[in-house]
Formats: sequence, C-alpha cells, structure tokens
Amino acid sequence: MKEHTIQLNLSPERKPKPQSADLGFGKIFTDHMFIMDYTEGQGWHDPRIVPYQPLSLDPSCMIFHYGQSVFEGLKAYLTEDNRVLLFRPERNFQRLNRSNERLCIPAVDVDMAIEALKQLISVEKEWIPKWEGTSLYIRPFIIATEPFLGVKPSSRYQFIIILSPVGLYYKEGIKPVKILVENEFVRAVAGGTGEAKTAGNYASSLKAQEIADRKEYSQVLWLDGVEKKYIEEVGSMNVFFKINGEVVTPALNGSILDGVTRNSVIQLLKHWGMTVTERRISMEELREAHQAGQLEEAFGTGTAAIISPIGELLWKDEKMIINDGVTGPVSEKLFHTITSIQGGKEPDPFNWTMEVEQCIEVK
Ligand SMILES: *Cc1c(COP(=O)(O)O)cnc(C)c1O
Repeated sequence: MKEHTIQLNLSPERKPKPQSADLGFGKIFTDHMFIMDYTEGQGWHDPRIVPYQPLSLDPSCMIFHYGQSVFEGLKAYLTEDNRVLLFRPERNFQRLNRSNERLCIPAVDVDMAIEALKQLISVEKEWIPKWEGTSLYIRPFIIATEPFLGVKPSSRYQFIIILSPVGLYYKEGIKPVKILVENEFVRAVAGGTGEAKTAGNYASSLKAQEIADRKEYSQVLWLDGVEKKYIEEVGSMNVFFKINGEVVTPALNGSILDGVTRNSVIQLLKHWGMTVTERRISMEELREAHQAGQLEEAFGTGTAAIISPIGELLWKDEKMIINDGVTGPVSEKLFHTITSIQGGKEPDPFNWTMEVEQCIEVK
C-alpha cells in the first residue's frame, strides 16, 4: 500500500446513537468520515479518518459548476453474533473506477479503498443499528475540487466516505409499488453517462419523478432514450420480469447501471435452476405478455430495498396489474435469501460477504 497509511484523528465528541424509530434513510451521520486528496502529479495522497465535518471549498470548485462527481452505495450489516459484514464491496469500488473512467476522474486503488472502509467501519461499529432489517449505509463519493471555471477535467479531487445508519425499508414486509411508465423524459442514452453512477443522472431524473409523485406513483419505469420502446430501469433500480416461467432483465447496453443486486439476483436464479435471460425487452412485448396472462412477476433491484416488487404499471392509459398487486414467490424468495446472506443468517455459497475485523478499538 506504499505511503497509504491511514491517519486517525478521532473526534473528541460523540453524538447520541439513534433509536430504531428515528432511523429513516440518509438523515443521520456517524462521528467520523474518511477523506483522501488527489493532486495532479502527486496522485491520491493523505488518506485520513477525521471527525465528520463540513467541507470548506472555494466557490469556483469545478464540482459546483460542471458536475464532475461519482458515488457509490453499499451497506454494512451486524450479524446476530456481533460480526460486521459487507456485501461484495469489491464490486462497488470496481464500479466506482468505471464511473471514474467515464467522468475523467483518476482511479482509486480498490484494495486501498476497501481497507479505508474497513478501518472507518471499525471506528464506527457502535453506529451499526442492531434491529432486524436495519444497516449502516455507506456512501463513498469523489468530487472535483480544482478552483477553476474552464471546462476540462479537474486537476484536484477529494474521495470521501460517509456513513449513515438506516432503517427498515419496508415496515410490514415487502410491499408492491405502483410504477408510471415514462414516455417523455429519459434517464440516459447509449454513449451518455447512464452506466456511470454520477450525480447528473440523478439530477436529470427528478422531473419525471416529481410528476410520478403528483400522480401518486412511487417511481417511473425508464424507457430507452432513442425510440422510447425498450425498458431500461425502474427509478434508480434495475428491473426484472417473470414472463411465462422465464426471468428477463434488460441487457447492459451502455445506458443501464450494472447493479450489484442485479448481478446477485441473476446468479441466484441460475443457481436455483431458473431460466434468466439478459436481453432487450419492449413495453409492447410486456403488454402482450400481460394480456396473455403470462406476466407473472415484476420487481426492481438495488442496495436500498434489495427487491422491490411492482404491483402495477401504468403505460399511457393502460393499467397493468401484476400478480394481483401482491408480492410473488420469486420476489419473496430472492428478498429473503439475499437479506439472510447479507445478515449472516444463511450460508453464503458465492462468498459474497466480507467480514470487517475489529482493527481499531474505540472507547
Ligand atoms: C445504484 C443504482 C442501481 C442499483 O445498483 P446496486 O449496486 O444494486 O445498488 C440501479 N440503477 C441505478 C441508476 C443506480 O444508480
């Protein structure tokens, strides 16, 4: 790891830990954060764990003007026997580097990033909520910090990891949601940044989401940006359909985000002997399957909810109710199996979990 020893500067103060009812998503942050700087010519340097604090940035910093930033999202889970598990963290940091490549941000060393994360979590172990279904959400991100208004890749960056204890996503078991098929706005196009986890993709998705909210739909189903025919993603999740016994998910085509949950779902379904196909699928095909009574289940996949069943799709004026609006058996089994592996309650046949050893004792 070269000169990458991580400096430790512990906070003199500790905030009170939240109660289960206060958790929610992304509102509460722990006592410390990880931060590392990049300077052209010097590379990434000065990795450190410091008290959680505001950043002081020049108003001309490039992140504020041209959106050169990338992020990740993963979780740490506390097991019943008090061990801490991460779920496939190497895939998140490898994806961070693919996002970096697309946004002209210098790569980070994956092993170094995982080591930094383990040390940070080790410091913050007491912050991992212990209640069923809760976890510590991890948000690594990189921002361009060169103070300059010219358009070019920044010569300086900061890589930061913050942690947030989060609650149960579904209060009464998993519950199907209503989805509005979006026919006007698009999330991403091939050749664009859809494959990268970058802030701009989220900024451009807000308008459609706002309209869906007003109509009391919980997310939008994104179609391809060229013909608006083919299904891409649902909200900020990947999407799966079970049609006449076969599970279908849109193939990674350059505008779809390569989700860790998506990949895990595909592996599990194959492991169970089910047929899973990654291919192009149109709304027209989905409608025909629905009319023929063959659209058996639909669900989104992502780190936040793991599996989010879809109970209704509204496309133009046509309402399609899926599986009578209740959670289907495949969605249920996937949710149960993945969350059980993540929480260390079930065997981990694919070696997906990584234990965080307590390497730093904090009083
Ligand atoms: C993060 C993300 C996902 C889900 O990825 P996971 O690794 O499964 O959490 C899906 N789609 C988009 C657009 C995303 O940003």
